Amino acid sequence: MNLKSVLALMIFMGMTTVTSASQITLDSGHSRRSPGAISCSSKHEYLYNQELANTVSVSLKKAGIGVKLTTEHSHEPSLAERAALARDSDLLISLHHDSVQPQFITRTRQGGACSNKASGFSVFVSARNPDYLKSLEYAKRLARSLKAKGLTPTLHHAEPISGENRKLLFPELGIYQYDELRILKTIKTPAILLEAAVIVNPIDEQRAASQSFRNVIADAILETIKQGTAPCKESCQLPSPHSPVHISPLLPALTSPRQQP
Ligand SMILES: [Zn+2]
Repeated sequence: MNLKSVLALMIFMGMTTVTSASQITLDSGHSRRSPGAISCSSKHEYLYNQELANTVSVSLKKAGIGVKLTTEHSHEPSLAERAALARDSDLLISLHHDSVQPQFITRTRQGGACSNKASGFSVFVSARNPDYLKSLEYAKRLARSLKAKGLTPTLHHAEPISGENRKLLFPELGIYQYDELRILKTIKTPAILLEAAVIVNPIDEQRAASQSFRNVIADAILETIKQGTAPCKESCQLPSPHSPVHISPLLPALTSPRQQP
């Protein structure tokens, strides 16, 4: 069978191949001018994103993987600049920290935004990305690796309320399909977006602020990238329609004085 026939057969069977990525673009979400979410301790999300991106970048470079940071030429990269940087990469990972809808947030006197509504990580893919199946495979590898390291996914983005209602592809892995996420749908390479922790949650924020947490995320990303050439017969298949999702119960009420309004 010639190469053309093999490729045709793979497409027919819904298979795709994810190879070991050697050039990664790390997108540190948001910027000083557009800082993203505000945490329970009133720290801006983009600072958490930068700290995490820097740790992941160092870790990947040490492992011999080429890394480009979307903020390496400009502290305020436009979406077009972010996409352009990723052009020759095998994978773009957009790093973010999560929040919840405003009705679940209590403001503190210090300007923080606190909530016990949700906790954990989530991974997003866009079906409008031209390499959707590869993106999905990377998302699954990352979520599995994060879970193996003791982290848990949050399902609150699937709640049927305004601002959420995202399509939860794999509840056990916290992987969502969000087609309109601009950074994911705009670029031509496989792309995933990681919400590493819910920084309005004081327990999650404490974790997110620690170097050990950043190291765990960096290790999981490194494992995701280094899994080598792997035809992913079943795991690359699109998920079948899932049954209604059970939203995880609320965490215990906030207790630290710092978190009180
Ligand atoms: Zn964000």
